[in-house]
Amino acid sequence: MEFSLTPFKELRPGAWRAVAQPAAVNIGLVTGTSGALLIDTGSSPAQGAQVRAAAEAMLDVPLVGVVVTHAHFDHYYGLAAFDDLPTYGHESLAAALSAEQVGEEATELGFDPDDLRAPNRPLALAKMVDLGDRYAEIVHFGRGHTAGDVVVVVPDLQLIFTGDLLEQSAPPAMGPDCHLKEWPAALDGILGLVNAGTLLVPGHGRPFDQVFAFTQRAEISSVYGQAEYLVGQGVRQEDALAAGEWQFDDATIAAVLPIAYRQLAAEGKVPRPTLRVL
Ligand SMILES: [Zn+2]
Repeated sequence: MEFSLTPFKELRPGAWRAVAQPAAVNIGLVTGTSGALLIDTGSSPAQGAQVRAAAEAMLDVPLVGVVVTHAHFDHYYGLAAFDDLPTYGHESLAAALSAEQVGEEATELGFDPDDLRAPNRPLALAKMVDLGDRYAEIVHFGRGHTAGDVVVVVPDLQLIFTGDLLEQSAPPAMGPDCHLKEWPAALDGILGLVNAGTLLVPGHGRPFDQVFAFTQRAEISSVYGQAEYLVGQGVRQEDALAAGEWQFDDATIAAVLPIAYRQLAAEGKVPRPTLRVL
């Protein structure tokens, strides 16, 4: 596994982005007159230490907090390197560390899963972090990409770090732990804060503006909406790719269809058998 970190590049005066491999995850850094906040931590405790060293080398104020946007390894597993600082994340993140796959991921990434750390300042809804002449707000707008996504809003910079609720470099990752029906509502929380001057920084890929964000919100919403429509029409999962009008490529839709059908079935929405007229 190849771990690396690009230099931090300026997004806005006082805010930067670096990219950590192996997952091309965006690491954010926001500074004020009295402190700085780091957003996401990389894929392992060792990478977290590398991120910390790189951030502290360019800061003339102390790091006063670290946020993890959600429980996925590329954002979360570096957090152990910051346990002496206030660390923030959704309250569901601690339990996520005991999931079975965490041990497998740790083995693959080359560390002991016991070394991982959960946020020491878990939050349910929102938390404000004072950086001196500016503040950052950490907000959970509801379930979406995962059960515990938080975004970081820096109002005076018109800057929002969205985690993987939005992605630029590829279609958003709609995995088994996502919540397709609720995801658009979580995005509406973000979109309610944006204007023409807002810069949004996704979990992966280049920053973008509100037009991209509104478009992707519609695309994400259409996955559940289209699957729900097809189920209502009696279309079975194996026929849904060909039968639907999809906003993402075939591979993305083929991967998400079992998840969409399972989530619809959990609400009692299953394809009705077609009556055969003899
Ligand atoms: Zn993710």
